[in-house]
Amino acid sequence: MTLSSQPDLLIVGAGMAGLTLAAALADQPLSILVIDPNVPAAPQQWPDHFDPRVSALTHASENILRRLGAWDAIANTRVAPFAHMDVWDGDGTGNIQFHANEAGAEHLGHIVENRVTTHALFQRVQGAANIEFRALGLEKILEGEMGGWRIQLSDGSDITPTLMIGADGGRSRVRDQLGFRCRTWAYGQSAIVTTVTTEKPHGDTARQVFLESGPLAFLPLREQSNQRGACLSSIVWTLNDDQLKAKLALTDADFCQQLERAFEQRLGKVVHADPRFAFPLVQNHAVDYIQPGVALIGDAAHTIHPLAGQGINLGFLDAAVLAEEIQRALGHELPLDDFSVLRRYQRRRKPHNLMLMSTMEGFKRLFGADIPPLRVARNVGMSFFNRHSLIKGQIMARAMGMEGDLPQLAQPGLVADF
Ligand SMILES: Cc1cc2nc3c(=O)[nH]c(=O)nc-3n(C[C@H](O)[C@H](O)[C@H](O)COP(=O)(O)OP(=O)(O)OC[C@H]3O[C@@H](n4cnc5c(N)ncnc54)[C@H](O)[C@@H]3O)c2cc1C
Repeated sequence: MTLSSQPDLLIVGAGMAGLTLAAALADQPLSILVIDPNVPAAPQQWPDHFDPRVSALTHASENILRRLGAWDAIANTRVAPFAHMDVWDGDGTGNIQFHANEAGAEHLGHIVENRVTTHALFQRVQGAANIEFRALGLEKILEGEMGGWRIQLSDGSDITPTLMIGADGGRSRVRDQLGFRCRTWAYGQSAIVTTVTTEKPHGDTARQVFLESGPLAFLPLREQSNQRGACLSSIVWTLNDDQLKAKLALTDADFCQQLERAFEQRLGKVVHADPRFAFPLVQNHAVDYIQPGVALIGDAAHTIHPLAGQGINLGFLDAAVLAEEIQRALGHELPLDDFSVLRRYQRRRKPHNLMLMSTMEGFKRLFGADIPPLRVARNVGMSFFNRHSLIKGQIMARAMGMEGDLPQLAQPGLVADF
């Protein structure tokens, strides 16, 4: 199918957020164009090793992906459910553990490689008659006639969509070119991510220790057909920028040794590490997600510290809520660019995202503080929470994404949510 140069909806960015929005609007009476210069890679193009970028997906995200028909492809490729979480303070005695059975669930979430999720969603999108994908980038946004936008693409062509969605990630060109204001926290920190093999099996447990430089997470991975899978973890190691260079320059053996020491050998020796990648850590939140004819979703609207493990989980909810509001508008025969549609989207998503980002910022500061009374408070606080099932239940509900104004796609029912 070839769309005209005037699609109803232009989605800029075929990452997980953009593709979720497109998949949620598949087969609706709308013409949708998705553009991205980077075509999501198919499994036969993937390198042998695990994608160093993984996400801990909540129940709410799993529900969305199941309802969009993408979950089976993900589950058949590679997923690792985790039933336990163990979080502790590397600088004290505070410790808190979560178990899925305390929440009446089989698991707390899944660790999934980003490329597995992206590919499953891309397959759904390619199968939809009302959606076209073009491997092109957005170059420039110009004012069009009658108040709309004229979009210049990387092949020199122009398109004039009724509504444009910026799903183009943390360095969003849509956001920057249209002058969306943002609140930004740069931490002067980066995260090293890679896949490691440990001496002991992970026991389907996601672990995180808070160190002086920031959190170090070991997220369980599973290779479907391989015993060794139980000893594979994806790590996210937060480091100050002045420590980063040295850690990247270490030999593999020295890196493994320093990593297992920082992790208190909770999984025994680290016997192997794949190539290391570094991502600078920035928290960024657009003051508004919408302008006439434009909305931002996913990392284009907000990037959040990975300590939360929530970035794309929020992005999935943005996409599901926006799709719901667009469908509501279609049902009421409202024009797609009616500003009330976008306002409803912003009203439903911004407070939730903001609340989560502020909570994470609070955690980050609390655990980053080396002030003795704060250190005592966080140790006492963790141990206190660990003993109180009601409070733990609330933390788990939040970690599983099962709270707040959930769109239909994310509602419980498809997995044992509680
Ligand atoms: C170390 C680390 C660990 C993380 N762990 C977790 C976790 O456990 N759980 C979790 O939920 N989140 C996690 N996150 C966050 C998560 O990875 C992001 O929130 C998520 O990838 C954002 O998805 P997105 O689709 O919004 O943006 P992106 O994945 O950035 O996709 C944007 C897309 O837009 C395209 N694009 C860019 N510019 C243009 C243009 N001009 N024209 C057209 N297309 C364009 C890009 O090619 C890309 O495909 C983590 C992040 C980091 C850095």
